[in-house]
This record gives sequence, C-alpha cells and structure tokens, in this order.
Amino acid sequence: MSDPAFYSGLQQKLDTLKTEGLFKPERVLASRQGAEVVAADGRTLINMCANNYLGLSGDPDTQKAAEAALQKYGYGLSSVRFICGTQTVHKELEKKLSEFLGTEDTILYAAAFDANGGVFEPLFDENDAIISDALNHASIIDGVRLCKAARYRYANNDMADLETQLQAATSAGKRHKIIVTDGVFSMDGTIAQLDRIVELAQKYGALTMIDESHASGFMGRTGRGTHEHCGVIGKIDIITGTLGKALGGAMGGFTSGRREVIETLRQKSRPYLFSNTLAPMIAGASLAVLERIGKSTELRDRLHENTAYFRREIERIGFTIKPGTHPVVPVMLFDAPVAQKFAARMFELGVLLSGFFYPVVPMGQARVRVQLSAAHTREQLDKVLAAFEQAGRELGIIKAA
Ligand SMILES: *Cc1c(COP(=O)(O)O)cnc(C)c1O
Repeated sequence: MSDPAFYSGLQQKLDTLKTEGLFKPERVLASRQGAEVVAADGRTLINMCANNYLGLSGDPDTQKAAEAALQKYGYGLSSVRFICGTQTVHKELEKKLSEFLGTEDTILYAAAFDANGGVFEPLFDENDAIISDALNHASIIDGVRLCKAARYRYANNDMADLETQLQAATSAGKRHKIIVTDGVFSMDGTIAQLDRIVELAQKYGALTMIDESHASGFMGRTGRGTHEHCGVIGKIDIITGTLGKALGGAMGGFTSGRREVIETLRQKSRPYLFSNTLAPMIAGASLAVLERIGKSTELRDRLHENTAYFRREIERIGFTIKPGTHPVVPVMLFDAPVAQKFAARMFELGVLLSGFFYPVVPMGQARVRVQLSAAHTREQLDKVLAAFEQAGRELGIIKAA
C-alpha cells in the first residue's frame, strides 16, 4: 500500500484496454450452461459460444454421475495425488481415458492448462528440440517456455515450413525432436493434418504431440479425436486434452501416451506434484461421460448434423465462413467495429456469441465465432439464423432479399 504509482499505473492500463475496445467483460449467467441460458438480467439467450460440443455441461445424467461420486468419495481430497489424493475413481478414469484414446497410460491434471504446462520440462532438455505450430494454445506456449529445449516455430498448419524446421533442428544436431500441434485450432476450426505430420515425424525421427481440447469426444467416427479423424490412432506419442469442454465441461485435464512418459510425469511434472487432486465428482462424471459416448455416437452425430446444417444455411443467407467441417464456425466480418456491433446486435436479438478481432486474430480478419452443440435444436438454430439474417441486413453485411 506504500506504492500508489503501482495502482495508478494498473488503472491506466485498464483504461487503455477500455478505450481500445480490448477490455473483456464477464458475461454473467443466472442459469446452468446449455443451448439456452438465462443472463443475470433475466433474459433468455440461445448460447452459441460455449465449448459444450456434446451438450453434457448442464446435462442431468452428467449431474447424476457427479452426485453419485460425491456421495461415494466425498467433496475433495485436501492432498496432491502422491501423498493421499488418489482414489479408485481417479485410477479408473485414467484407465478409461487410455482405452478411449488408444494409448498405454494417462495422468490427470486439474486442467489442460496444467497438462500442457507440465509436459515438456520433465521430458526434454537443452539437447532437444520442440517444433511447435505458430497458433498453438497459450498453455503449450507457456509449457515450452518452462523447458530448456530449443524452440522451432512453424507457420500454422504449413507442412512445408514444418519440414524446414525439422531440417533445421536436425542440422543443429538435436537429440530428440517433438512436433507439437493443437489437434483443432479453436479460432478457425482448422483440423491439423496429422496424417502428414506423422509421415514427417517418421521421416525425421521425431516424436509427435497433439492437444485435443477441441476434439476429444466428437472428432473422428467414434469421437476419439483428431487422431481418429486423420486415421493415425496409435501413431501419436503424447495426447493432452481437457475434461472441461466436450467431455462434461466442469474442469480437469490429462496427458496420455506411452507408459514410460506417463510414469515420468508422475514423478516429475510440477503441476501434478504440487497441485491438488481433481475433485472425485469430476472424475466420476467424466467416467460416466466416456461410458455414454462409448456406447453410442448419437451425441457426436447430432453435433455434426447441426454443424453441417448451420454451415450450409449461414452461407446460403450470404455470410462468408471459414470453410471446414468442425463445429467451430468463424463467420467472417473482417472489420473490427463491424464485428463488435454485430455481436452486440445479436445479443439484443437473443443470441450469445463472441466477436474476435486483432490482436486475437490477424488484422482485417475480425469475426464472430459460432460453436455448435449437440444440444441445439433445429428450431434454435433457425432462430439464430434468422437473427443473423436480420442483423446482417441492418448492418449492410448481406444484401436485402
Ligand atoms: C481450452 C484449451 C486448453 C485449456 O483447457 P483447460 O482444461 O480449461 O485448462 C488447452 N488447450 C487448448 C487447445 C484449449 O482449447
């Protein structure tokens, strides 16, 4: 309290964020998560910006599974895993996740942010090279920073540049090389070319790692992820992901791979050694989610039907989207103030979505990002499309019919 300039300096920076339109306010919900949510002011909105791909966040069966685990295992552990924080439900979840992902073993974390933050430093040192996609998630970037390995960056999804970087790391005489990519990039819905990445890895003797946060549970024929989508199950060395998106939506993360890797992380990964155990009710609910999506592809199929319908109809209305098949649908508005006005108008029309502009996306690439869910009904999607059409005409983005 004896340094007033510190606080006035912070306030100045906050004010600058506001004048530049970069301040991020919280949107407060008064309901559970779902296809429809209730805002704090009591208005009902159709939610098009959650990572609730399978609709399991507010789902009653997910809740029941959490309640059952709460009854059996209690509220929490007050311990890290290796002291007295491991329960049978955590071991069961690690086993089930390994089966689901097609790996040998899995280690749980409190978040995927921790999984990525704690995966590199125990496994790689200054003799090694990490070759990372330029658009990888912030937690991967931070995790790489915590590790002494040499860093090589390749342009997003650019396989020629990836090969150039692999050659550079090889020429530099690096001992181990690992190619790291998001399975799906959340700003664009771009799917990593894992088949080609695996080929390049084989050619250069490199390892591979994917972050499946926007893929686990719904990408690929049975929802196992981008590696299933690309036909490379069993060929990826390390898989990280979250339990906080499609797989239930509460929180939690994991790293999965060969037994030697996971055992090493249990001994050395700092967010695992020095942070509390995942709450047992989350582990229990996650187990129920994996069981449910292992039994039937119904939710995954509904999500992809909704995605295909929305992608087709939004283009028919006259909007430009980034092409693709992923439930992340970037609707391109290009101009930052237009994107801001558009998102605000959609909010008035009862649709919750988020606008993105520079510096989150490149200059001139402003957009609103739509995320489909298995929980959306056709009727809700038609309402959203009608609102897009209305706001689009009002703001002169699309021509009047
Ligand atoms: C959301 C996300 C994370 C972080 O997940 P948490 O479990 O919420 O920490 C990590 N990586 C990617 C690619 C993500 O999209």
